[in-house]
Amino acid sequence: MSANNFTAKKAPILQVKNLQTGFKIDGDYYNAVEGVSFDVDRKQIVGVVGESGCGKSVMSLSIMQLLPQGIGKIRGGEITFEGENISEFSDKKMNQIRGKDISMIFQEPMTSLNPVFTIGYQIEEVILNHEKISKKEARLRSVALLKSVGIPRAEKIVEEYPHQLSGGMRQRVMIAMAIACQPKLLIADEPTTALDVTVQAQILELLKGIQESNDMAIILITHDLGVVAEICDEVIVMYAGKIVERASVDELFNNPKHPYTDLLMKAIPKMTEDVEKLATIEGLVPSVINMPQVGCRFANRCPAAMPECLTVTPMLNDVASNHQTACLLYDSSWPEGETRQREGATIQ
Ligand code: SF4
Repeated sequence: MSANNFTAKKAPILQVKNLQTGFKIDGDYYNAVEGVSFDVDRKQIVGVVGESGCGKSVMSLSIMQLLPQGIGKIRGGEITFEGENISEFSDKKMNQIRGKDISMIFQEPMTSLNPVFTIGYQIEEVILNHEKISKKEARLRSVALLKSVGIPRAEKIVEEYPHQLSGGMRQRVMIAMAIACQPKLLIADEPTTALDVTVQAQILELLKGIQESNDMAIILITHDLGVVAEICDEVIVMYAGKIVERASVDELFNNPKHPYTDLLMKAIPKMTEDVEKLATIEGLVPSVINMPQVGCRFANRCPAAMPECLTVTPMLNDVASNHQTACLLYDSSWPEGETRQREGATIQ
């Protein structure tokens, strides 16, 4: 193949390498995110799933550098956005990126929207922070943005206050604010959790449409694998601060490997099955101060656990092309070259 025929893969827009984020508790730091590494390609939608307390939100707040001051801290690793290590950026430099190149939307818009300012004022503030245009132009842009996220009577809504809107409408306003400066990366943290099912579907469709029209990459944080199946290209499964599985959406749904992923899948409601009670995962995610230092962090809840799971720490290994998992059942390097097969393990 000649050099002209060869198309090099573009560098990812975001690279997270060995991220470690800790929280200060009684004077000591405890890591809520431990050695997390992943890439996000341009225009890609990456879902990050796991229960509450798995480190998903801490990971996204680390990328945005929005950790609670004096309590949360990036303690190691690198976050590279468009080739620059932003984990070393000052607050001032991050302010130039936040809202412009990387935006974030949260689960509950009422915590992000200011109740004392009108919708229009809040969207215009984002635009005027990053662009040198007149207030009149910013107002016109706000109205156009609200229309683009499906808000009717946009000319009137810009004059209204957050409490005058429904939950679904407020989430649309948050999306309008987040895309106001056409960011290259949007981090959406549980954007549909507080909404009813019909509105959830509309918001997901809206996000997908915006991603396509704006050529934007999205990190979608959710506890719901059903949401991931709807719009994501790749999935990262987190448990107790670590990535335990990573794969394309098709590969993960057709061929889940990690017992935790397996149990998350069983907790997805299925339209075709008449079940009285959804499957749940027994037990709780260990707290940051009680995190096992060796062995698998899922061992005390895992239906396939073996005695070795308490003493050998599983690493992320390739199990197929574009599919990695961190489980001793699939670890070819342990022990001494032996590969454990899932068959025969007591996954239920
Ligand atoms: Fe279960 Fe062991 Fe795999 Fe952990 S390493 S998920 S405890 S089988």
